[in-house]
Order: sequence, then structure tokens, then C-alpha cells
Amino acid sequence: MRAAVELVNTAVEPDTLLTQEQVETWWTAHRYTGRHDRDAAELSALRGIRDELRTLLTSDRDGAAEIANAMLSDARAVPQLVRHDELDWHIHAISSEAPLDRRVIVETAMAMVDLIRADELSRLSVCADDGCEGLVLDLSRNRSRRFCSTRCSNRNAAAAYRARERSATE
Ligand SMILES: [Zn+2]
Ligand SMILES: [Zn+2]
Repeated sequence: MRAAVELVNTAVEPDTLLTQEQVETWWTAHRYTGRHDRDAAELSALRGIRDELRTLLTSDRDGAAEIANAMLSDARAVPQLVRHDELDWHIHAISSEAPLDRRVIVETAMAMVDLIRADELSRLSVCADDGCEGLVLDLSRNRSRRFCSTRCSNRNAAAAYRARERSATE
């Protein structure tokens, strides 16, 4: 889910999914395995699914259930227990040889299935910064995350500080 949120957030201006290197950073950060073509087609396919993922991640519970179902059936997802690298048995619902963008769709839909079942969709929100469309995934126990990035939280902390200063000197 974190990988999907980050991927969607690369589309928030300025776009930060323009180069192979940026794909690589994202791939490595989320310890992806399996097929990775490292070519222009893969980059453009990844760029192309960001809107679709955003719609899934920002829909209400019933809407998200419908979209996740459609994504899984379109991909003919078949949940299988797999064990690879150092990872113990876990679920993959699509072959590791499928194109990366298809796998991201299926994995995100599967993660969404868990969130929907647990009725935890409130963990997903849009950044509290007025001008920012970034998504926030809050997995913290006290649900304290409101901003998509340290850049947004710093900007807002600074603005709140200035506002306090102003009211203190008035
Ligand atoms: Zn795996
Ligand atoms: Zn933000």
C-alpha cells in the first residue's frame, strides 16, 4: 500500500516519475521482486496507472470494493501462497512474470481488500496542506499523520508558528 501511495504521489506537481532512475528508487525502496523491464514501456505503463490507483485509494468503502473487485477480475488474479528470497509464505495474486504495472494494480487491490475488510479506510486521506493533492497513508497507532511529506508538514508547521507569533505581538 505504501508503494502505491508513493507511486500516486509522484504525479503530484512537480511530477517525479520521469526517469528510469526515479523508477529504480521507488522499486528499491519497496523491495519489489519479479519482472522488471527497466525500459520506456514500463515507465510509461507505471505513469499510466497512477490515476487509476488514485481513484481506488480515494474512493469510499463501497466504491473502493467495486473498483478492487474489477481490478482483480480484469487481471484474472489467482491468490497463491509463495515463498521466495528470504520471505516466508505469503500471498501473490499474479505471476511474478507479469508486467510490473499489472502487478502493482493487483497488489494494491489486494492491500485494499484488507483495508476494506478491516474497515480501516480512514487510514487513507488527502494531505492536510491546502494546496497539496498528495495521499497520506497513516499506519500509526495514534493516527497522527496528516501530511503527505515532511515538506508539507514543515511548511504548515512554519505557517502555524508565524500565525502564533503574529497573534502574540498583536
Ligand atoms: Zn512476494
Ligand atoms: Zn502534501
